[in-house]
Amino acid sequence: MSLNPKRTIAELKELLELTSDANGAQRVAWSPVWLRARAWFEEKLRDLPVEYHFDAAGNRWVTLEGASPRTLLIGGHLDSVPNGGWLDGCLGVLTGLEVLRRFSDQYSGRPPVTVRLIDWADEEGARFGRSLLGSSAFAGTHTIEADRGRTDRDGIRLEDAVKSCGFDIDRFPEASRERKDAAAYIELHIEQGPVLESLNLPLGAVLGTKGVERWAITFFGQEAHSGSTPMNARRDALAAAAKLALEIRTIAKKHPDAVCTMGSLKTFPGIVTAVVGRSEATLDQRDLDATVLAQMFREAREASDQFAREENCTVEWSKIWNIEPVSFHPELIAACEQAILETAGAAKRLPSGPLHDAAEVARSGIPAVMMFTQSLRGISHNKIEDTKKEDLELAVAAFDCLASKAADWVVERGTTP
Ligand SMILES: [Zn+2]
Repeated sequence: MSLNPKRTIAELKELLELTSDANGAQRVAWSPVWLRARAWFEEKLRDLPVEYHFDAAGNRWVTLEGASPRTLLIGGHLDSVPNGGWLDGCLGVLTGLEVLRRFSDQYSGRPPVTVRLIDWADEEGARFGRSLLGSSAFAGTHTIEADRGRTDRDGIRLEDAVKSCGFDIDRFPEASRERKDAAAYIELHIEQGPVLESLNLPLGAVLGTKGVERWAITFFGQEAHSGSTPMNARRDALAAAAKLALEIRTIAKKHPDAVCTMGSLKTFPGIVTAVVGRSEATLDQRDLDATVLAQMFREAREASDQFAREENCTVEWSKIWNIEPVSFHPELIAACEQAILETAGAAKRLPSGPLHDAAEVARSGIPAVMMFTQSLRGISHNKIEDTKKEDLELAVAAFDCLASKAADWVVERGTTP
């Protein structure tokens, strides 16, 4: 009714102006610039008939109370990585604000269902290496004991940084109270990858977030003199790792959306006159299908054993981290696709490689879906991150359409969550 996508773009630019320097956005969670962004956002709420507060984990909740307590949640995050872009996270928050305004106008301040906008705290984990901090507290998947002692570059502990912003990490679990009456969750985000651009599509409906297997792989061979050791007598730990680096591409390419990455490879002793005695590699594998992920993991392990044998080496694997795939709700995915079709004429269903707060929400049992808008050159976490202005306007309109459909869906589903 009163939806104004141009206002959203103007507000995104206003926020960028307020919270960036020559290197990009600097809204790192638990920092003064982040607090400035949140204070700026609070000013935007003044003219709306909403209640707002922070939960125990620092997530901000903005509530437009409806005729029914059953609630549609709309999420995003104002925090950014250092030297970040102008859209990652805040596009979701500011589009959500525009949608709240529209609901408020259309229904004179009282929509059929309650609508709540969330600014999640510390989605990026940029300072302490713990992503999805606020949403994991909400979902009850927090890891407080492992997280409280994490330190930033200056040795400041996460627990203390949180305290300096007025929150107590021991009370984080209380954030789960906000789950009450939650019936659906939607989130708009930039794709941060090249898929939509390659298809020349502005928008996509997200199927879920990929599961991740992240491992450290060490090959052990024998350091030896590069001049005196014949080729057939070598136990070259780099040769084995190099074969694996190529093989993981074959393993991933068997599946349409799977990815495998060897992002780091160190050699020891790492000098020009020695055969490599030890090589340390990392492997990151992702797919939306748990069976595919398990298969890729098994194949990579078997390949590493084979290459170790071929090079007369041994190999050891140790887990860095993993998370299971999270699927979004099929009916909300269909609603998202329909909203995109009605607004932009063509839609694509795609999985998300990066994790998002929506994954935590879905893990907590709340039906969820995300909408992606195209990222130019697929680039994000960089000040050159960008999306065409016309695509941003379409995104706000399509997301608003999804919000209406999701609200209707919440009404239709009745009182059983
Ligand atoms: Zn983000």
